[in-house]
Amino acid sequence: MAHLPEYTPVLIVGAGISGLGAAAHLKAQCPGRDFCVIDSKTDLGGTWLTHRYPGVRSDSDLYTYGYRFKPWRGKPIAEGPLIMNYLRDMSVEHHLGPHLFFGWQLTEASWCSTSALWRVRLTEVESGQQRTLSCQFLWMCQGYYRHDTPNLPDFPGRESFKGPIIHPQDWPDDLELKGKRVIVIGSGATAATLIPNIADDCEQVTMLQRSPAYFYVGGNRNELAEQLDALDIPPEWTHEITRRQLLKDQQALHQVANEYPEVVAEELINGVQAILGEDFDVDSHFRPAYRPWQQRIAYLPDGDLFHAIARGDVNVVTAHIDRFEANGIRTTEGNLIPADIVISATGFQLSVMGDVAFDVDGVPVDFGQCHTYLGIMISDVPNMAAMFGYLRTSWTMRVDLVSDFVCRLLNTLEEDGLSWCMPSPPEAETIADARPWIAAEDFSPGYLRKSIHKMPKQGSDLPWINLTDYYVEREVLPTIDLKDGALLFGGSR
Ligand SMILES: Cc1cc2nc3c(=O)[nH]c(=O)nc-3n(C[C@H](O)[C@H](O)[C@H](O)COP(=O)(O)OP(=O)(O)OC[C@H]3O[C@@H](n4cnc5c(N)ncnc54)[C@H](O)[C@@H]3O)c2cc1C
Repeated sequence: MAHLPEYTPVLIVGAGISGLGAAAHLKAQCPGRDFCVIDSKTDLGGTWLTHRYPGVRSDSDLYTYGYRFKPWRGKPIAEGPLIMNYLRDMSVEHHLGPHLFFGWQLTEASWCSTSALWRVRLTEVESGQQRTLSCQFLWMCQGYYRHDTPNLPDFPGRESFKGPIIHPQDWPDDLELKGKRVIVIGSGATAATLIPNIADDCEQVTMLQRSPAYFYVGGNRNELAEQLDALDIPPEWTHEITRRQLLKDQQALHQVANEYPEVVAEELINGVQAILGEDFDVDSHFRPAYRPWQQRIAYLPDGDLFHAIARGDVNVVTAHIDRFEANGIRTTEGNLIPADIVISATGFQLSVMGDVAFDVDGVPVDFGQCHTYLGIMISDVPNMAAMFGYLRTSWTMRVDLVSDFVCRLLNTLEEDGLSWCMPSPPEAETIADARPWIAAEDFSPGYLRKSIHKMPKQGSDLPWINLTDYYVEREVLPTIDLKDGALLFGGSR
């Protein structure tokens, strides 16, 4: 592997689906611009490298979760290893290899106005050795959660439990489930994916959830893609047409969910009841208290979780945990659920900008006290963009759009011979009046609610807002006038 240079024009942080997408777009749209991608892990993939629990898969279709420039061939909902293959193939096809540097953790980033450069501090994960690197532009593609620190709540009595307590983010390769009684804590996509995939091995599996979630039950095939494939047309066409159809369908579903949340809720719950049967108490276990789409709705291909419950392979308990005991978990109603192993599918810890300490000319940056510029850049922080994908539409739909925007910005700097640009909100946009990064009524999973105060704030109007809506952003982002005064430009090269 090549050595990490002392200087690179563009430093991309993170080699997950965002950082790899950013790199491929940069190569295509800013030809000749050198760049490095660093990641603290030993390989590419990000989320898909970290998550290796049985059955791990996407919960959105790969036509929209895949990039617009690389056709997806296969079932719409894909397992983790297939997504890893897709990312590896993309990296090879776009010759990203020489730009990728693994095992480097970015810990500090300091902007120097005099040199118009970022000087970043990196730690080599394996050796602990530190070094610095400078770059003109910093592109943060670090995702939204801590890969090394899963969210393991401090359950009372945790230490008294005799068996292992495992988080799916840290799945051990040698975990023996045969003949074991297993409790899976959680009601999200991870619990729903994991449970049917371990149910056959275990003696007993209990899904222990505090409150119900919505699930969308459907088949794992796309008829339109199958029909297009049968026409022997280029895969690029099939990808694009299928993508457009899916996006149109999803838009219609979001609109109906907004206007008639009860109707959509009923339809989703009926899909579950149809598998579990009329005698199952769906109201207690699968009727959420929130509106559909306030949290991501997991797509369950062929309703595998519900078939496992219907067969009697999985128990569902909706209750609060009182404490862990030596042989299981006691609920607040006083019932003991026996267990040999507990799997705590309890989500993530939010990581704001990769937990990197930023400063501008020696003044520390507190992102919670900054304005967002289009959900891409940060007020008064020069030459830095950050990738945060969509939470309701596939994450990657935004990777493509934000990459277009950043490449356009980089090309503008180059063409105008300038060395820096920085969002600078007007005085009328005050932090005191600013709104959170995402409104709770729009989207409010626990990990985001807990730490939302650390994220940049939204002002009153464009470009000081985080639109979070693919259908609006696909119109807005390409037409933003970079020279409308919201961005300051300077320096010369
Ligand atoms: C099991 C699972 C399934 C999912 N399915 C879907 C889905 O179907 N659809 C969807 O839209 N979303 C899904 N998501 C959300 C998912 O996280 C995003 O879609 C996407 O993977 C995020 O990609 P990313 O590259 O931005 O971040 P990540 O995948 O989190 O990768 C970030 C990378 O940056 C590196 N990094 C972070 N900080 C630093 C630092 N300081 N220095 C060096 N390196 C650093 C990390 O090591 C990591 O490799 C899923 C999430 C999970 C956990």
